[in-house]
Amino acid sequence: MIDAVCTYGGERHTFSILKFQVLPESEIEQFRQFLECPECKGKAYYRKTSSDGKAACFGSRYHIAGCDEGHPSTQRDRETRHAVEVNQFIADTNIISIDFRLLNTKKPILEVKTVASGANLISSRAPKIDNASRKPAGNNQQPKVKVLGLEKILNSLMRGSDLAQSNTLIELDTGYQFKAKNLFVNFAEAEPSANAKEAKPKMYWGTISHLDKALDWLNPSDCTDVGIPIAKYKSILLERFKVSEGRQLEGAGIILFGKCFWNAKKTRKIIV
Ligand SMILES: [Zn+2]
Repeated sequence: MIDAVCTYGGERHTFSILKFQVLPESEIEQFRQFLECPECKGKAYYRKTSSDGKAACFGSRYHIAGCDEGHPSTQRDRETRHAVEVNQFIADTNIISIDFRLLNTKKPILEVKTVASGANLISSRAPKIDNASRKPAGNNQQPKVKVLGLEKILNSLMRGSDLAQSNTLIELDTGYQFKAKNLFVNFAEAEPSANAKEAKPKMYWGTISHLDKALDWLNPSDCTDVGIPIAKYKSILLERFKVSEGRQLEGAGIILFGKCFWNAKKTRKIIV
């Protein structure tokens, strides 16, 4: 369960697991006896992050038959677990290094996660970064670096983890470090430069609305004025996602490394 209702003090208050786990210890101890399933009101429990790293969660053994919350391990649960995990990373670590190598592929451009409610589309185009962005590595003593995969990063952003506002440094390649809050940009907040040359690379993320019939363009659902040219990647896309047409990717999450700039007429933001 992602949410639980707390009935402490005779009031009903819905907590997400992300919110609940950061409450003061004393409140957690008070509230945990008063949790229930938001759908069927079955008595629920809270389990904190385990010492072997399992994310904090809500659960219930008392769902009534037919309660949708009773099904374990939906995509939403998975995404929320990743958000919890990433928040823990941010708390523990100075630097997060992104692992662009994705599952069982040699040099992937894109990777799919086969999931219940739509695949997540992940671009792992190796980042090309201007020399100007290169910061001298070092001068901190022994920074703690942890490695995170793109799927967890995307899932956590989709579930509203702290990553999007975090000062944690994200290392894209040795020496290429960006503050997370300056690197991850939802499509709706993409700020285009006048042209491609001036644009700074960011990691743009969000949800796919639709692709055009010819699979030349991908449109995020977070806004109507952003287009991502994918003509070069269409066969890779279809193959990697094991789909036959673009429609099957609608609703999938996507994260990609690119630059945002205006088209010539300044009517549309392009992310390449
Ligand atoms: Zn229930």
